[in-house]
Amino acid sequence: MSGPFTLAPLPWDEDALAPHISGRTISFHYGKHHKKYVDTLNELVAGTAYAQMTLDAVVRATADAAAGSKEKKIFDNAAQAWNHDFYWRSLTPKSNRPTGTLAAAIERDFGDRLADKLAEEGTAQFGSGWVWLVSKDGKLAVEKTHDAMTPMAKGATCLLCIDVWEHAYYLDYQNERPKYLKTVLDKIVNWDFAAQNLASTGSRPLAAE
Ligand code: MN
Repeated sequence: MSGPFTLAPLPWDEDALAPHISGRTISFHYGKHHKKYVDTLNELVAGTAYAQMTLDAVVRATADAAAGSKEKKIFDNAAQAWNHDFYWRSLTPKSNRPTGTLAAAIERDFGDRLADKLAEEGTAQFGSGWVWLVSKDGKLAVEKTHDAMTPMAKGATCLLCIDVWEHAYYLDYQNERPKYLKTVLDKIVNWDFAAQNLASTGSRPLAAE
């Protein structure tokens, strides 16, 4: 159905991440799961003030909604729409490595432990959720969130994320979430996207020491 929120195109072809994530996984994940969140959000906000807001604003405005409320349903679908758009852009078939300010901030806050930390936290997330690299209070941090929750809703700047809902990896990796996380981190993370997000904060984390 139509509505104020749209399903943005993928930043690469559906099979571009293969063999690390198959075209079949992306086809279901983007074309069914992600699309459903956007469609449901449009149904829920029809005729409400949320229909006039940006997606970011809807996520922040509904982040503390009570369980069982319509606002909580709006949050879940708005945040999942936002999270998936962010996830696609966190991945790239053109493997790259952190450079410049991002590389220096990673070295300062994690040494050589960042990939291991992301894999550990992503594995430790019980049930459905996400693992994130964020910038907050002038430092980088790894966070895991449950279901649709996103650090963006709580004021952190998201740099990159990995979806750890089973639908993100089950067709390719079955129950082996750690193997999915290691493969993504080794092969297809878009560190250039993370660097752009860090730069967009306008902060200069290395100058504040
Ligand atoms: Mn997903």
